[in-house]
Amino acid sequence: MYPFTLPSGRTCAIRELTGVEEELLTNTRLLRTGTAINQILRNCLVQLDEKTELTPTDVLDLLDGDRHFLLIKLRQVSLGDEVSLSLVCPHPACQATNAIQVNLEDLPVTPYPPEREFTITLPGSGRTVRFGHLDGHKEVRLAALPDADMTHGMLIRILDIDGNAPNKKTVVEMSLKDRQALREAMKAVDGDIDTTVNTTCQRCGTPIKTKVEAHQDFFFPGSR
Ligand SMILES: [Zn+2]
Repeated sequence: MYPFTLPSGRTCAIRELTGVEEELLTNTRLLRTGTAINQILRNCLVQLDEKTELTPTDVLDLLDGDRHFLLIKLRQVSLGDEVSLSLVCPHPACQATNAIQVNLEDLPVTPYPPEREFTITLPGSGRTVRFGHLDGHKEVRLAALPDADMTHGMLIRILDIDGNAPNKKTVVEMSLKDRQALREAMKAVDGDIDTTVNTTCQRCGTPIKTKVEAHQDFFFPGSR
């Protein structure tokens, strides 16, 4: 068992991944809907706060940043801290392969603030928006939308606008200034582990920006 404190401040313990979870990680259909990740978290979380028998709801209740953090920690306890990436240069004329090492233990973690609800007065319209964090329930709903976009990403976190239930129209018709302010307010209270890899191509200098977990080498090192 490996104990951790999550970005939300909750405590947990996880066990290593087995072949059962490896099968889930290769099931593209279950990955797309979020089912695979939820099942993996449920399998591998052996304790959350004081609880040891976790239900599917316990896993969905986890905040987005905690879930992301757990995925990285599951990789660390199962396969080690070091990830070797082979990044292909995005410049069409180059396409050189760049070998990069990432130590997952070095990734910066941003903790969540203690509050779970926030209020912002929008700078343009003067409207008051109450919003919360993204969690597993909302992630599943977003994954099920055929056209999930930036508007849905904001809408799903809004509790009310001037005391009224939000709808897509209200968020779409907001001025860019208000949408920008709302996006920034949401981002400012998000906890997470930053898995961004920023580097430049060794051959041509083109910037390469990616997420460490987006690569095959993350869960399946040396499989190519
Ligand atoms: Zn290049």
